[in-house]
Amino acid sequence: MAENVFIFGAGASKDAGVPLMNKFIEEGLALKNKKISPTEKIDFDRVDQAITSLNNSLYSKINIELINIEDVFGLIEMGRLLNKLPGYENAEKIEELRKSIIKFIVVTIEQKNLFVHKEGKIASAAKTYAEFAGKFLRNMYRNNISFSAITFNYDISLDHSLSFYGIPYNYCLPHSKNKIKLIKLHGSINWGICSKCKQIMPIDFTKFFTKFRPSLQPGLSPDQIPIRIGSKIGNFFHSGGCRAKLKDIPLLIPPTWNKTDYHHYIKVVWKQAAIELSEAENIFIIGYSMPETDLFFKYLLGLGTINPIKRLRKFWVFNPDRELEKRYKNIKGLGIEDFQFFSSTFKEAIEGIPLEYLAKS
Ligand SMILES: [Zn+2]
Repeated sequence: MAENVFIFGAGASKDAGVPLMNKFIEEGLALKNKKISPTEKIDFDRVDQAITSLNNSLYSKINIELINIEDVFGLIEMGRLLNKLPGYENAEKIEELRKSIIKFIVVTIEQKNLFVHKEGKIASAAKTYAEFAGKFLRNMYRNNISFSAITFNYDISLDHSLSFYGIPYNYCLPHSKNKIKLIKLHGSINWGICSKCKQIMPIDFTKFFTKFRPSLQPGLSPDQIPIRIGSKIGNFFHSGGCRAKLKDIPLLIPPTWNKTDYHHYIKVVWKQAAIELSEAENIFIIGYSMPETDLFFKYLLGLGTINPIKRLRKFWVFNPDRELEKRYKNIKGLGIEDFQFFSSTFKEAIEGIPLEYLAKS
């Protein structure tokens, strides 16, 4: 358990280049004629057409406009479960679209979340996460101040920066051992799924870079290098397990979707999140807007923070959108000594949490 728990939402990865949910489709589709391969273009075109046709058929019926990538992804998952999606005549077509939207998300994240290349290596961590892990977390780690991180994000900015600064972490999947927990509630672009036994198999950076050494491609500037760990996931195997090949798309879970469909994959991860929350002394929430639709998080927070013997001391929320303060105030509940809302970005948040304020374990 850790006394300090950091919770990250999409806002935290904004500085690292990952588009926010409501800009994701637009910024992703803008890559279509620039950075992507012909096979990726097929997926991008399929997603583009699907959004147009779903918007046409849904807007006239239920007045829903699909702008947010979470909504589109969630709707396609729903269509897959019900085997019904307007314009898609059968299960194969829906499944094909589902794969395409996952690839669209993976490729967009990879092409937006860029790193510095130097002498055959990645020589930087993602923006702001670099300061967070390099200064802040490394200090905590050295001073034995316990912490864990829970994230809603698919990108590998936090994972990579921990790895970059030599802080060992553990995804709380079966067989993970390190002390610092990095809990990814919605999966991750580097989490493969075994094609045979369906277990989750995360690929770490050492393994990835051994197989795919970072290289400078013509026309790419050395500070604009993607880490294509999600796109290449199908090149790895379920090592230490049944040794079968991994599927060619990673495990990504749509945020707005009823998560029970994924339960068998990721129950251990959610369980660990609840344990971390119940044992935390301080919770810091960074860049997470807590959409009204994400009841899952409210329940998790509600159930997780019930602990008769431990009182939650700090519950600090960092988000530039001041409007969110009300939303958080509504759920903070009883028993928190110190609720504060800071209308600040991730960068300002790091500067705003002085180390000496954090509980020593
Ligand atoms: Zn397997």
